Amino acid sequence: MAGWRLKHTYTELPQLFYSDAAPTAVREARLVAFNRPLAAMLGLDSEALEGPEGAAIFAGNVLPQGARPIAQAYAGHQFGHFTGLGDGRAILLGEQITPSGGRMDIQLKGAGQTRFSRRGDGRAALGPMLREYIISEAMHALGIPTTRSLAVVTTGEPVYRETVLDGAVLTRVAASHIRVGTMQWAAAHDDQEAMRALADYTRARHYPELADAPQPHLALFDAILERQARLIARWQCVGFIHGVINTDNMALSGETIDYGPCAFMDTYDPATVFSSIDHGGRYAYGNQPPIAQWNLARLAEAMLPLFDPDMDRAEERATAALDRFPELFEQHWLNGMRSKLGLFTHEPDDKALVDDLLAWMQRRSADFTNTFRTLTIGRLAEDATNADPEFEGWLRQLEARRGRQPQSRAEAEDLMRRHNPAFISRNHRVEEALQAATTAGDFSVMERLLDVLATPYDHGRDLPMFSTSVPGGQPYRTFCGT
Ligand code: AMP
Ligand code: MG
Repeated sequence: MAGWRLKHTYTELPQLFYSDAAPTAVREARLVAFNRPLAAMLGLDSEALEGPEGAAIFAGNVLPQGARPIAQAYAGHQFGHFTGLGDGRAILLGEQITPSGGRMDIQLKGAGQTRFSRRGDGRAALGPMLREYIISEAMHALGIPTTRSLAVVTTGEPVYRETVLDGAVLTRVAASHIRVGTMQWAAAHDDQEAMRALADYTRARHYPELADAPQPHLALFDAILERQARLIARWQCVGFIHGVINTDNMALSGETIDYGPCAFMDTYDPATVFSSIDHGGRYAYGNQPPIAQWNLARLAEAMLPLFDPDMDRAEERATAALDRFPELFEQHWLNGMRSKLGLFTHEPDDKALVDDLLAWMQRRSADFTNTFRTLTIGRLAEDATNADPEFEGWLRQLEARRGRQPQSRAEAEDLMRRHNPAFISRNHRVEEALQAATTAGDFSVMERLLDVLATPYDHGRDLPMFSTSVPGGQPYRTFCGT
């Protein structure tokens, strides 16, 4: 018994939202990554799962006790264009009830074809699945809401992309996999009963505090918007670029979901794009807040009939709710930035102080993470802040600003240490780990990286290898996680 306690509330929703789907067995399942702390949180027995039984389960060759495998249906705006999608290569095994009473989706990504595979093979390659594992766990350690990664197995089968790659399956753990696109799916079918059921289900599962809200659907929308504003602010504060914030890749729980061509920004530039398919820069770093609002507008459109039977009034309500986004985002972002600068109090010129620093970083092509690290623990040898009179001038302003708050210097430093990571998943380190794993079957490089990323705020760890970007490196490119 490995501790499975799988439940299936999602399948109580109308049939429109899912389709039964069995994982397709793979030739040779081998466990190459396993997350013991996450297993413990889920109430799963690591020892049992690290053996052949676990490999068989995480490959989809054997179903865990109590599983009821399904593929979820959803639609989505991809780069602005609306399409019907659904889990084309992911299979939900069920909802694991955790020892603390939580409910977490257990999903196999890359587990074979489903009703929604269209022309896809239902499979995933090892590199992208390890990449999702590394970056989702790094995000979790940073304290940012995210889906998590329990295991990766190799399948012993090839997958055919531009080249032949090793197949793999990732076990993803999520508060749920309900997306903006799930509501769009119901709206596209013009099925108001299904929309209402999904809204009620989402509210009960993710926003139980709204149980008695007088206008429950509007309250749900407001709460989703609020969580997204906070989430995107958290991304901006660590320089995380998602890469494909299509509406199907935005979870209504408020977790970061679907790690494809994502990466962390090194030198500060709001126009930074890593994804090889994002030619127009739609999902560039600086565009993430407005794109989130755009996605929420699509959610509001889908939910309109739930807001008010009178469509004019429904639209008025939706618009009023959506208009709050920029300000909400800015509040969360500015508070995050204040913490990064060691500021507890609020002053009207704080935004200008932050903007001046960012403008300086952009002019000097300064490393985003390390500039804040410099403010936190002092300068690094190769630091762009060294002997820069403009930076010194800005620093004097910050010192003056700090002098006007009652908190001590030690308190400010402590705050900064908790908000400015020493370690992010640097692109060249991720590549190096993926290279070693995919070309030489050497997973030790990834394990070392995961160990560093597990304590991103540990400024006492002196690991320059993990805290410097490649100077003058080629522009980094990421490829879609297929
Ligand atoms: P993503 O880019 O991972 O967000 O996926 C977008 C859509 O394409 C989703 O509906 C996926 O299920 C589907 N998809 C991606 N890769 C594959 C694949 N190899 N086989 C089938 N469907 C896929
Ligand atoms: Mg997706």
